[in-house]
Amino acid sequence: MKGAIIGDLVGSRFEFNNMPEWEWDFDFLHPLCRFTDDSLMTIAIAKTLVECRFDSAAIRSRVVENMREIAHRHPNVGWGARFYKWLFQDEYPMPYNSYGNGSAMRVSPVAWVAKSEEEVKELSRMVTDVSHNHPEGIKGAEAIAMAAYLARIGKSKEKIRERMIAYYPELGDPGFRIKKIRPFYGYDATGRWVTCQGSVPQAIEAFLDSTDFENAIRLAVWLGGDTDTIGCMCGSIAEAYYGIPEEIEKRFPDFLSEDLLEIIKEFSVVRKDRVKR
Ligand SMILES: [Mg+2]
Repeated sequence: MKGAIIGDLVGSRFEFNNMPEWEWDFDFLHPLCRFTDDSLMTIAIAKTLVECRFDSAAIRSRVVENMREIAHRHPNVGWGARFYKWLFQDEYPMPYNSYGNGSAMRVSPVAWVAKSEEEVKELSRMVTDVSHNHPEGIKGAEAIAMAAYLARIGKSKEKIRERMIAYYPELGDPGFRIKKIRPFYGYDATGRWVTCQGSVPQAIEAFLDSTDFENAIRLAVWLGGDTDTIGCMCGSIAEAYYGIPEEIEKRFPDFLSEDLLEIIKEFSVVRKDRVKR
């Protein structure tokens, strides 16, 4: 979950900023990095899982309340238009059949709490279908949560790829590698770059292609498109697989506010010592 936030921070300064020439060796945590909706909604889910640990029936209502409450404290971070309405304007926020990648960017805390694959699926669905109830929205969130869970319990990349191919068959294509797809990837008029199906497999591939935590997020952000969200989704898996280097773990809180750090601290009690490698 911290990996998701770090990915969001690193990608944040490149979002909506088409920089085809930007270099591979960009500053990782640059002073212009900032947290965006990806971090906030991830933290809202973490808060919900802490609160509802022994009361899973309450998850759906609490997660809606928590997402809205945190969003109201930090309204200016770049929301999608329909999700903004769901957060700020709807009196009774209802699912709106979304397959935007907002479902997958926020789901990673599930991977640290679930005790089985069944629980990954169940929790992932409960925190997703309150807004993103399109089958692709639910699938995207489950894929990220499952990849991070499998990494957390010590599965190999080969195994994780095999499992992820069931969600996104393109991950089985040797041509679907970050360096190969980058020239053809990025913003497009159809908005595919902000959908689950147009960004979740890319985030998973960035992790599978990577050599370490930082390298994974660099690959994801370097790919382009929805850089903060791809960084976030990839970072959530990379954290579970590699852990976070000490220097990065020390620096990233400087970019967050006190209320967010407090929730991260509470959640760390739940996730403590769960990495199995
Ligand atoms: Mg964002």
